[in-house]
Amino acid sequence: MTRDRQDDAPEPRPRRAGAREPADQDLGGEPACMLDRVCPACGRLADAAPPTTCPRCGAAVGDVS
Ligand SMILES: [Zn+2]
Repeated sequence: MTRDRQDDAPEPRPRRAGAREPADQDLGGEPACMLDRVCPACGRLADAAPPTTCPRCGAAVGDVS
């Protein structure tokens, strides 16, 4: 473990907002295409590409049309 904890080393926070890219695009979440994998019943993300079934509750995922 060589990660430093910022305990007694006050490092300046890396400036992200206001630089170039809008902060709205830096969500760091799932891509939009992954929304198809979200279970409509419980909201869990399916492991496989739809159409599939939710690994938690077994509901149909991506087969709602
Ligand atoms: Zn589910």
